[in-house]
Amino acid sequence: MPEPASRTPDSSRLERPPVETSIFELFKAGPGPSSSHTIAPMRAGLDFRALIDALPPEVKNRAYSLKMRLLGSLSATGRGHGTPLAVLTGLAGFTPRACPEDLPAGFPDLPAERRTLRLGENSIVLDTDNVLFGEIDHPYPYSNTLVGELRDVNGALLLERVYFSVGGGFLQWAGWEPPKRGQQPFPYGTAAALRAHAEENDLSIPDIVMSNEMALTGRTRQEIQHDLDEAIEIMRNSVQRGLRREGLLPGPLGVYRKAMQLARKADASDSSLNRFLGLLNAYAFAVAEENAAGGIIITAPTCGSAGVMAAVLTIMEGYLGFGPEAVRESFLAAASVGFLARHNAGIAGAEVGCQGEVGVASAMAAAMLAQARGFAPRVVENAAEVALEHHLGLTCDPVGGYVQIPCIERNAMGALKAYNACLVASAEEPGKHRVSLDAAIMAMGETGHDMNAKYKETAGGGLAASWFVC
Ligand code: SF4
Repeated sequence: MPEPASRTPDSSRLERPPVETSIFELFKAGPGPSSSHTIAPMRAGLDFRALIDALPPEVKNRAYSLKMRLLGSLSATGRGHGTPLAVLTGLAGFTPRACPEDLPAGFPDLPAERRTLRLGENSIVLDTDNVLFGEIDHPYPYSNTLVGELRDVNGALLLERVYFSVGGGFLQWAGWEPPKRGQQPFPYGTAAALRAHAEENDLSIPDIVMSNEMALTGRTRQEIQHDLDEAIEIMRNSVQRGLRREGLLPGPLGVYRKAMQLARKADASDSSLNRFLGLLNAYAFAVAEENAAGGIIITAPTCGSAGVMAAVLTIMEGYLGFGPEAVRESFLAAASVGFLARHNAGIAGAEVGCQGEVGVASAMAAAMLAQARGFAPRVVENAAEVALEHHLGLTCDPVGGYVQIPCIERNAMGALKAYNACLVASAEEPGKHRVSLDAAIMAMGETGHDMNAKYKETAGGGLAASWFVC
């Protein structure tokens, strides 16, 4: 058999501006079921409320009607994702992080005074009439777009902002400028550049991510560790809550929670393999079901894929015995993978399909496990690559627009692939791995770009269509 041809990467395609994302923009606490359709729209509501508050009194006093128009995928699947209630919860002044357990789903049950928005001399009681479902095809650059409009009694526009939910709960708007950030000591825009920093400076990936975070945000190591521990604790809580709950999930699909039953069966199994796999499934289901029910989760990188890292984390702590320091470090390694995927391709189902959600989550979890096991940066990168490679092409086709089918089971599959990817990557000689993480991310971006819109969180194709036929 002939030797495979040697491969020279096209360096011009690998030169990228540096990642400038904070760890806490990636790992965010907020209510499910969708970072793009719940957390970011809630933040848009909050922002629009702040803009109204800042209007001069003479303009504010003329305000009469307020509408938030959902476009693109937000319009196509917003009902199933609870987008209108998320927008209203934000307009009422609640933040995703401090959102009470019963919101946004319980928004209509709040007393009228908690739903009242002051518009100068007028006030309105917020309800679903304030949110409109607009065009699915629209001219704006992001599918997940919403437009806030404030008008006077004659319909004249007093205030407008066009928001873009760009994936993972990140929010931008027309005219948005990235925040000014500090100069990073180890700038990188590719996995190759990240690895080069690690190898040249004899540093681990967590060392680099922490140093960059401190420089970007101006915060101390202790402050960052404190917030990271808090995020990890919220993630742990989401697993435990999900394991305790039973019953039907919201919506018309008739999907029952299974996490508790999966955990019971795993615990009762006399096969250690079945016990291990059963628990990994149960943990992923627990968080994915909590997310589907609108519970508070940590985006990793998104709400819909929040069960993947949470499941592997719980196995790492409860089954493999890793302590807090190893867990914290491993989260930083996982963050680097999420950063690169977002930076060079996308992490929203509406943008690149589920390969960007569960696929990236699986890659992050594989890197997390490889880092916790103490492997070299090259192995950490390879583990992430293997996990992502085997999610390439995965479409986003949530049945009825609800983040339940195929999403909940898919989180369990992503967690299993993450574990296996770490096994595969750590068993081989790192330098002989033939596909780079950069190549897998580039392939994900191109595949997502070419993917038909019906497979990108519009619930127009795939299982979302066949489920109703068969
Ligand atoms: S199919 Fe994947 S990307 Fe789409 S909503 Fe479900 S988890 Fe998110």
